[in-house]
Amino acid sequence: MPRTTARPRTADIAIVGAGPIGLATAVALARLDLRVILVDTQPRKALAAPTPDGREIALTHASVRALRALGIWRHLPADAASPLREAHIFERDASRALRVAADGQGHDRLGNLVSNHLLRAAAWTEAVDHAHVDVHAGSGVHAVRPGRAAIELDLVDGSSHRVGLLVAADSRFSRTRQMLGIATDMHDFGRHMLVCRMRHETDNAATAWQWFGDAQTRALLPLAPQLSSVVLTLPGHEADRMAQLDDDAFAREVEHRFQHRLGAMHPVGERHRYPLVATYAHRFVAPRAALVGDAAVGMHPVTAHGFNLGLAGVERLSAAVALSLARHADPGDPRALAGYERRHRRGTRPLYLATRAVAGLYGDDRPVLRPLRRAAIEASTRLAPFRRALASGLIDDGPVDPPLAERLRGMREWLHPAAGR
Ligand SMILES: Cc1cc2nc3c(=O)[nH]c(=O)nc-3n(C[C@H](O)[C@H](O)[C@H](O)COP(=O)(O)OP(=O)(O)OC[C@H]3O[C@@H](n4cnc5c(N)ncnc54)[C@H](O)[C@@H]3O)c2cc1C
Repeated sequence: MPRTTARPRTADIAIVGAGPIGLATAVALARLDLRVILVDTQPRKALAAPTPDGREIALTHASVRALRALGIWRHLPADAASPLREAHIFERDASRALRVAADGQGHDRLGNLVSNHLLRAAAWTEAVDHAHVDVHAGSGVHAVRPGRAAIELDLVDGSSHRVGLLVAADSRFSRTRQMLGIATDMHDFGRHMLVCRMRHETDNAATAWQWFGDAQTRALLPLAPQLSSVVLTLPGHEADRMAQLDDDAFAREVEHRFQHRLGAMHPVGERHRYPLVATYAHRFVAPRAALVGDAAVGMHPVTAHGFNLGLAGVERLSAAVALSLARHADPGDPRALAGYERRHRRGTRPLYLATRAVAGLYGDDRPVLRPLRRAAIEASTRLAPFRRALASGLIDDGPVDPPLAERLRGMREWLHPAAGR
């Protein structure tokens, strides 16, 4: 792609990727009075009115708080959020469940489920409302040139830009991350996730199911009393076969896989497939650049945390930028970026590793792992601290990174519930 001969335009920030996290980052930084350019390969029409993609995002209370603070939540339709009151985690024959509820945590629900395309549309509306946000839709980055005082980028639409900070939010397979020379751990689980909305006879009681079998995991996310999102994790050939079944055959097979616990079922809308690949960038920052969202941490969806961690990253990055603006008005200050890197790594690494381990254990159908899988769930049903940790992970309403003393106090309360009272 030829470089323009015109002088590069200047802005404070360039964000590549107008997905939900890129958009939330644009809003957060525009609120600091920074001029933002936002680049995405998708056409403007598709970004403004995204179509359903099958992802139902389980939002923590902390994420809802962040979306409200950013002004994004108010653009969601009134009925967009479905309450998630409990989660039941089963192993194999479903004889015992690990029950996770909001009991005693001061909330009437564990979290809220909101469709990804609605979150994207709401974040888009808020972002483009800002006079400081300039969108380059249907474009992409052709080249980046980091310098001491700024970073320059050439877009495929022929324009060039000189900014203080480049933020990569262009998915777990981020091209911008590669251009910046940041390597990434990538783990391919050799499985696909097949998701589909289904109506069913029996009320789901606003309860999510996570069901770990030997060769598959099954999940059910409650959207209305008789409407759920069905999530199946399958080897590629099985996902192919299930995706090609006609609606009736698909419904019979899903009923069977859920042991007819929801009565007759039938699909509503399309089936969507996602290859399961987890990614973790070796670094979250480079000179005058930062990674956010899936470009930094691409979680396996089994613990439903990718978007939640992404939003926590937006809060951390915007806090770091605000701090450096207060010091000397440079949004790409390396000390502030190093602070973002430290906080975001500390806030994501343990959950990323735990999720990878759980997904690996249950995605591997070798019989030799059967006792280990059973022991893991068995232990979980008995260990109160584990249950409490799971519940408070979803319920977490506090600041993104509570002070150490508070974290230690929280840990002590999980381990010795009586001591905290
Ligand atoms: C089935 C499923 C269920 C999930 N459930 C949950 C859940 O319950 N809870 C939760 O917290 N998370 C969940 N997630 C994860 C969540 O969807 C992601 O973490 C979130 O979408 C990441 O947002 P993002 O903006 O970082 O990236 P993306 O949503 O991947 O958006 C990336 C954007 O970048 C653009 N782009 C790509 N390449 C380029 C390029 N070269 N140049 C310019 N633009 C580019 C794309 O067009 C897109 O707009 C789930 C994921 C899946 C697959």
